[in-house]
Amino acid sequence: MSKPAIRNIVIVGGGTAGWMSAACLAHVLHGLDYRITLVESADIPTIGVGEATIPPIVDFIRFLGINEQEFVRATNATFKLGIQFEGWKTTDSRYFHQFGALGCAIDGLPFYQFWLRAKQQGDQTVLSQFSPAARMAAQNKFVPASFGTKESLLAGSSHAWHFDASLVAQYFSDFAQQKGVMRVEANVLDTTLGDDGDIATLTVDGASGVATLQGDLFIDCTGFQGLLIEQALGAGYEDWTDYLPCDRAVAVQSESTGEISPYTRAIAEPAGWRWRIPLQSRVGNGYVYCSQYLDQDDAQAHLLSQIDGKSVTEPKHLRFVTGHRREMWRRNCVAIGLSAGFLEPLESTGIHLIMRGVRRLIELLPATRDCLCQAREYNQSLIAEYTSIRDFLVLHYATTQRDDTSFWRHCGEISIPDSLAHKLELFKASGYLKPDSHDLFEYNNWLAVLEGMGVRAQNTSPRINSVAPEEVAKILQQLDAALGKMTDAAPTHEAFIQRYVIDN
Ligand code: FAD
Repeated sequence: MSKPAIRNIVIVGGGTAGWMSAACLAHVLHGLDYRITLVESADIPTIGVGEATIPPIVDFIRFLGINEQEFVRATNATFKLGIQFEGWKTTDSRYFHQFGALGCAIDGLPFYQFWLRAKQQGDQTVLSQFSPAARMAAQNKFVPASFGTKESLLAGSSHAWHFDASLVAQYFSDFAQQKGVMRVEANVLDTTLGDDGDIATLTVDGASGVATLQGDLFIDCTGFQGLLIEQALGAGYEDWTDYLPCDRAVAVQSESTGEISPYTRAIAEPAGWRWRIPLQSRVGNGYVYCSQYLDQDDAQAHLLSQIDGKSVTEPKHLRFVTGHRREMWRRNCVAIGLSAGFLEPLESTGIHLIMRGVRRLIELLPATRDCLCQAREYNQSLIAEYTSIRDFLVLHYATTQRDDTSFWRHCGEISIPDSLAHKLELFKASGYLKPDSHDLFEYNNWLAVLEGMGVRAQNTSPRINSVAPEEVAKILQQLDAALGKMTDAAPTHEAFIQRYVIDN
């Protein structure tokens, strides 16, 4: 007998994952015969720390038809051009992982090959000097790519935002409810499975007492606990702590001080790393650490001693297990957000994975609850995305030259995944970076981190030998000068926010 049609979608959880999923589903299914309900608890707080993003968020906002300026205003957002990594290779090292271009390909040859060739000739430039985003970030300047012509160097830059997580959830909540999503404020007490093993109903306790809520498809956005996907359906969890040992974080907000930088800072610390995320009116700070080497009180004391400006919230302590559900879609339940898995926020990928989850769900949205093959496809593709991000994160730790604390010695000894080992070996031998269709991070992202961590290709491509040394030097000089001119002409980040966001 065929299973019932899917008409009634129930989302549990009103954090960033719940409301982003609701907004996206409501936008796409608007006017069709679907009913979308979101249940959120007033008693269980959201995690509220996801505040740094990566460029695909801008496309997501455009996809929903939201005006960017309005979104930036409503969420207290600032612009982000990348991440400044401090103290990762050695205690006094620093590099910038830019969004967008890093040089430009010439005659089909990657810019990196030109730069390597110049290095062999004694060139003194640093690779990030050839990135529009890194150049602007270094001078606290910002102008979006859309302000340049298609041919201008600016076209190679890219941006994302730092925003207030609670304002973002509120924004998507209003958006989704305007598009017909029904909000139920209640605690989910229990889950009932049908004879076929699918979730049939939820028992909820809300303003009108205890009630039963039916659904055809359930989206679990209940955070780390995975109330439906794990507690009701036992999807199982793949633990990646051996690759990424941090398992705790402490977060605190502080007053703004100094200029608002258009980038996140990721500062290596004795037992992990610390983030600094500047918003328009405050700063988000946190220390991600490994409990094997640091206890909660010392982590909090260290974080508070390092932030600039007075803290304006109580420190919030979080525990996590890096990894993912073995099945993110199981039976008639799809987990999105922290309930699906967790990768530490070193490259700000949490919210991106929410967007990937909901958009993939929409692509595969089944007509009926008979959806085994859609679930299989979803699980394979999402897990591949988590895996490629994991490898990118491991790269940051495993290539460290630090051995000054037990934590960093541990990182230097991490046994890296085979997929990453192969990528590194190939890169060192040839400068070639194996593309992976699931890889969120592209050639230029990998290059920035590899070079920043002191991993450089040992050989240039033989094809670069056809370009004369003087020609290579000239290309680098011209690009450097043009980027300098572009950056000098750009407004400061704060002036841009004032002019194009606040005053507009
Ligand atoms: P939560 O925010 O935990 O929301 C869970 C929801 O479920 C809540 O509304 C709760 O009330 C509800 N709920 C739970 N149980 C019940 C119940 N029984 N009945 C009814 N409702 C229930 N991502 C980024 O992209 N950038 C970052 O910079 C970043 N930094 C991070 C830093 C840390 C330390 C951590 C841990 C995560 C970070 N993330 C970041 C990830 C990001 O915070 C999450 O992906 C995002 O907030 C989504 O969370 P969520 O909605 O899945 O879960």
